[in-house]
Amino acid sequence: MDNCIFCKIVNKEIPGNIAYEDDVIIAFHDLEPQAPVHVLIVPKEHIPSLYEVTFDHMEVMGWLMAKVKDIAAELGLENGYRLVCNCGEDGMQTVKHLHFHLLGKRKMQWPPG
Ligand code: AMP
Ligand code: ZN
Repeated sequence: MDNCIFCKIVNKEIPGNIAYEDDVIIAFHDLEPQAPVHVLIVPKEHIPSLYEVTFDHMEVMGWLMAKVKDIAAELGLENGYRLVCNCGEDGMQTVKHLHFHLLGKRKMQWPPG
């Protein structure tokens, strides 16, 4: 997708600090980390947000979710972590390419702000 910053990272048009990559997903460190570990787990396919996810995306979504624990383990998050997906305006989504924030190495707060 033109002008999508995460597609550009997927396509190696701009650099990302990549933590994990396979044929379906990529995970890279957030530019403005909100925790000692903060990576974004992103499907390589351009899906704008959770709003657009359908049963056609079952394979990629299942793949992504099944990889979370492996990425977390690789990053040393054996004490736990938080997985966040911001969706739409009220969800404060700023990048319109579906992504999951994996946050760890600090105690999270609940409820979130
Ligand atoms: P969201 O607000 O859920 O859409 O999150 C977008 C996230 O992408 C923010 O945490 C940004 O800091 C992060 N971000 C934006 N551009 C980049 C980039 N080029 N590399 C890494 N993280 C980025
Ligand atoms: Zn994209």
